[in-house]
Amino acid sequence: MPAAILSNGVTKFTNCVLVKGNDLVKEDLWISSVTGKILNGQDLLYGQRIAPDNIIDLGGRILSPGLIDVQLNGAYGFDFSVIPEEGTTTYGKGVVSVNKNLVQTGVTSYLPTLTSQKPEVYQKALPYLGPSGAPRNASSGSESLGAHVEGPFISPTKNGIHNTSVLQTPQNGLPDLATCYGPSNLTTSSPIKLLTLAPELPGALSSISSLNELGIMTSIGHSEATYEQAQLALFSGATMITHLFNAMNPLHHRNPGIFGLLGSPPSPSSPPKPYFGLIADGIHLHPTTIKIAWNAHPTGLILVTDAMRLAGMPDGVYEWTNGSRIVKKGALLTLEENGKIAGSSITLIECVNNFMNWTGATVPEALKAVTETPARMLGVESVKGNLKEGADADLVVLDLVGGEEAKNLAVDQVWKFGEMVFEKGGDRA
Ligand SMILES: [Zn+2]
Repeated sequence: MPAAILSNGVTKFTNCVLVKGNDLVKEDLWISSVTGKILNGQDLLYGQRIAPDNIIDLGGRILSPGLIDVQLNGAYGFDFSVIPEEGTTTYGKGVVSVNKNLVQTGVTSYLPTLTSQKPEVYQKALPYLGPSGAPRNASSGSESLGAHVEGPFISPTKNGIHNTSVLQTPQNGLPDLATCYGPSNLTTSSPIKLLTLAPELPGALSSISSLNELGIMTSIGHSEATYEQAQLALFSGATMITHLFNAMNPLHHRNPGIFGLLGSPPSPSSPPKPYFGLIADGIHLHPTTIKIAWNAHPTGLILVTDAMRLAGMPDGVYEWTNGSRIVKKGALLTLEENGKIAGSSITLIECVNNFMNWTGATVPEALKAVTETPARMLGVESVKGNLKEGADADLVVLDLVGGEEAKNLAVDQVWKFGEMVFEKGGDRA
């Protein structure tokens, strides 16, 4: 009886530690480049007597699910919120280029994010930003799980760097949203996966319910909401807070504000605590603030980059949208006209490293904030963010360097749909 079938597309990783929940487990992992999925190694070996085509000895390194960034405004010189003068064909090529570059940082899926813009920008951009879906092609790079639209239904007093001249109020609920984003972009097969809005605006709560019915998730952000208003948003179906602490009122002992949602629900009939994004770049938040949020609600914490197109570019002054300009000085990005923080230029694995070192989180706990937790928030945990049989074989090989003082994970390899798409020092891209 033949023990092996040739060219079956099966790869076995061995001599590695797998990220499983809050643990690192020494175990092999089997994947298929044919289905792009994680396989049941025991069944293949003993049940079907299939031997892998390819055995990869990881020399004790960590094998993690691919990272997920739910807030990325652009990178590598490309901004999702800017339609080039040449038109949408050039825009589409820009998206393809970001995807191919982004995957090399270990981010195998993400939500391309649009800031507050005029309606025409959403209507032109959104058709390019929806879920990548079929065909599942490893060489396409990082995969969109749908767009994140941040604004323009946000508070003019918590606009951050969003231009107030384009902000709107969802007075009439869903019809106003449809006029803004385009009716074809607000259906049950919408390219939008997540929508950040300010729940205290007139019409916002009914908008949240309507979006829920379409399968579009909502997140509270750029908002002056009180604790009570933020709670109403959860009752209406909001499930997340966008970049917690930034662009919202701080905790006040008599008015805990949006942050108060991380406290215990006041009664069993209350909605669950929301997920929350945090920018762990050392600029947006103090390390202790991050630790407090993590202690308050560890299973809701999602690390996001909020990175914009200047990530990886030299220092200087750059044109931004709506006539504004951004000053880049190292990792610090500020709006020239008022000095406000203007997104970040950090990578997601750097956020993970900061988070580990600032909070004392273990490697699997920190990785959970960029894998399992965002996958759960997005409702895609059966295929993303874990190493269970049947999940997509989107993987990152990580090397843990440094001692107790400063631990750092470095991305050594990235696999997408069962194929290697990046190797540090290698020529794959
Ligand atoms: Zn923002």
